[in-house]
Amino acid sequence: MMEGPMRPELRLDSAVFRANIAAVRDRLGDSTLMLVLKDDAYGHGLRWAVETALEAGVTSFGSYDVRGGVEVRRIAGGEVTVFAWATSTDEEIDEALLQDIELGVGTVEYLRRIAARAEVLGVRARIHLKIDTGLHRNGVRPEDWAAAVAEAREAERSGALALVGVWSHIAEASDAEDDEAQAVFLDAVRQVGLTGPQPASVHLTASAASWWRPELRGTVSRIGAFCYGIRSADGPDLDGVRPAARLVAPVVRVEGESAIVAVGSLDGVPSTLAGMTVGTPVGSRAVSTIDVATMTVEGWPEMAVGDEVTVFGPGAQGEETATTLAERIDTVGEEILTRLGPRIRRRVVD
Ligand SMILES: *Cc1c(COP(=O)(O)O)cnc(C)c1O
Repeated sequence: MMEGPMRPELRLDSAVFRANIAAVRDRLGDSTLMLVLKDDAYGHGLRWAVETALEAGVTSFGSYDVRGGVEVRRIAGGEVTVFAWATSTDEEIDEALLQDIELGVGTVEYLRRIAARAEVLGVRARIHLKIDTGLHRNGVRPEDWAAAVAEAREAERSGALALVGVWSHIAEASDAEDDEAQAVFLDAVRQVGLTGPQPASVHLTASAASWWRPELRGTVSRIGAFCYGIRSADGPDLDGVRPAARLVAPVVRVEGESAIVAVGSLDGVPSTLAGMTVGTPVGSRAVSTIDVATMTVEGWPEMAVGDEVTVFGPGAQGEETATTLAERIDTVGEEILTRLGPRIRRRVVD
C-alpha cells in the first residue's frame, strides 16, 4: 500500500544535479558556470537548487529578476556572484545594490536610473551592459552602443558604476545566426576595451551553444537547462547529464484493465500529452486520457492502489524525459517542468 499522501510529487535527486553541474563545468573548461535559476530554478525549487549547487562548487548564479536574486543572496550568503537581468523598478534597484547583486543593463534609460540610485545610496553598482546581437528582446542596439558605453564609463569615473560585464543572448537555433550574433558581440566587446579596462565577465551563450560551440563561449557561460538535466528539444543526449527530477504519482483506483493515477492537467500536465508513455513497476505503459486531476494508464498484472507511476524522469521505470514529452507537443523540456503547479510537492530524495 501507499506510504505518502495520494498526491503527485516531484522528486529531486541532488547527486544527479551535482553530477550534471560537474559534467557541465568540465565541458566549459575555462569559462565560468553561471547557474541560471529563473522560474523557481526551472520548477525544481530555488532553495534546493542553490544549496545543492553550492555543494557542487558553483560560485555564480543568474536570476531573472532582482526578487529572485535577493533570495539567492539570502540562501548563498555573501561570497557568490549574483546576476539579475530583468529591467527593474527603482525600489528593486536599491535592493539589488544593497545586496550586491550585479545588474544586466539593456537600455541607456535603465543605466541612468541605476547610476542615480547608486549615487543616492552611496554605493557603486556593478553592471553588465547588454548589446542586442539580433534577438531584439532587450539590449542596446549596435548603432547606440558607443554612446551607451561612453555613459557607462562616465558614471564609472564618477564612482556610481563599475562596468564589470558585457553580454548578450543568442537564439541557439542555427549556427549561421549565432555566428553573426557573435561577430556583433565581439565588436561590442572590442569597443568597450578601447574605452577602458576590459570587463572580466563576457558572456553570450546558454546551455546548447556553451556545450556544442566552444568557440562562442565567453569568460562566463549562463546555463540552466543542461544543469538540471534537460536536453534541448530535437537535440541529442549529453554525456554525463541526466534529469535531476522525476514526477511520480500514485495509482488511486483500478478500473478494469486501467490504472487511474493521481496527476492531471490541474497539476500542470498538459492534456494534449494523452498518448504519452509513463513508467510503471513493470515498465512503460501508454496513457489514454489526461483529465483535470487524474490520468488513465494501461494496466499491468497485480496493479494496486498506491503503486507508483513515473510521469517523466531519467527513464529508470521506462518513463520518457521531460524533453521527450515536450517534443510530442512542440515545446521544450523546460516548459514541462515550469508548468508544474504549486500543488505538486517537491521532495529531495538523495
Ligand atoms: C534562460 C536563460 C539562460 C539559460 O538558458 P538555458 O538554455 O536554460 O541554459 C541564459 N541566459 C538568459 C538571458 C536566459 O533567459
